[in-house]
Amino acid sequence: MSGNPGLFIPGPTNMPMAVQRAMTVALEDQRSPDFPKLTLPLFQDLKKVFKTETGQAFMFPGSGTGGWESVITNTLSPGDKVVIAVFGQFSHLWADLCQRHGLDVDIIETEWGVGARPEEYAKRLEADKDKTIKAVLVCHNETATGVSSDIGAIRKVMDDLDHPALLMVDGVSSIASIDFRMDEWGVDCAVSGSQKGFMLPTGLAIVAVSQKALAAYEEAKLPRCFFDFGDMIKLNADGYFPYTPATTLFHGLRASLDILFEEGLENVYARHHRLAQAVRRGVHAWGLELCAKEPKWYSDTVSAIVVPKTIDARDVISHAFKNYQLSLGTGLTKVMGRVFRIGHLGSLNELMVLQALAGSEMALRDAGYQVELGSGVAAAQSYLLQDAAKPMMPKVTSVAAA
Ligand SMILES: *Cc1c(COP(=O)(O)O)cnc(C)c1O
Repeated sequence: MSGNPGLFIPGPTNMPMAVQRAMTVALEDQRSPDFPKLTLPLFQDLKKVFKTETGQAFMFPGSGTGGWESVITNTLSPGDKVVIAVFGQFSHLWADLCQRHGLDVDIIETEWGVGARPEEYAKRLEADKDKTIKAVLVCHNETATGVSSDIGAIRKVMDDLDHPALLMVDGVSSIASIDFRMDEWGVDCAVSGSQKGFMLPTGLAIVAVSQKALAAYEEAKLPRCFFDFGDMIKLNADGYFPYTPATTLFHGLRASLDILFEEGLENVYARHHRLAQAVRRGVHAWGLELCAKEPKWYSDTVSAIVVPKTIDARDVISHAFKNYQLSLGTGLTKVMGRVFRIGHLGSLNELMVLQALAGSEMALRDAGYQVELGSGVAAAQSYLLQDAAKPMMPKVTSVAAA
């Protein structure tokens, strides 16, 4: 096949050449005196991305799922009560992981297409007079439905009720792409992974936890070994690890953090918003709706697009892949066949978004929906041409960002 395949799934995302090049290194001695020169700054810089000064960052070999497991097992004990809103496949899986660890999981069943409702969390916490709920879990960006939630609003509910539970946030498809403020929002455990906003291959669970979570670690009785915070902290202090770390990925992470800081995190968020707006204009121009029910839930990293009842979204996805080398995200479980997803996060620019829209239009046609060719592309182009939507593509000033 000639040309570059289009990767528009919500993770893994497109990897910048600079990140790829940074990983073209010989394997190295993870106990050498030089190794901490690579690792110690990574911990410091990750804290900048999570926006925490007082928290502790961790890099486990693993994926986002491992990150979920690490925060649960290090802070909670069997039978502990946690509350979580479920409104998509990822929030569902996190709740399931909690249940499999023997936690008492109070699920706030929520319609797919809306996000975490602060008032529903408030009801659960208010009813909890003895304050037995140990953790409040929220999926910041539900990747299955393209829905973002307001973490600050959940924090406020907890503060208003003076509830001492830990606030745990799944930021796997938001951190490094969408505004995330760990300290300001009082997030105790924040979970991410390497293959989404960080633009790396899969292989790292990237986690940050508060001092309050570290205090909970001292009491927590769930079994843990691979993900033990204590073992990590001891060795991480000097830049080392309790077992073999993913050394090659650390070089990629160095490059990815450099790229993020060169653009500036606020610019990164603005770019994601702008490109997401362009995608949404395109979708509406096709006469289609998003799975996200209202603009306040719209995700700036992924759009789940509801197809007309007359066609199957899986056909759109398979035509896109077979005919145009375009990878789109599938509809997961409840929305299988009903939605396809465009991932618009990570290393992405205007014309890549137009490519995804153009390919989707052709695949929609192939699947039997008579979308007007070019309609979505044109709507996105018009939006991107507006001055107001513009000011955030920074000049490339170094080879690192190329
Ligand atoms: C991708 C994703 C996960 C799972 O991460 P893996 O790296 O696949 O284990 C969890 N939560 C959200 C919101 C995600 O998007």
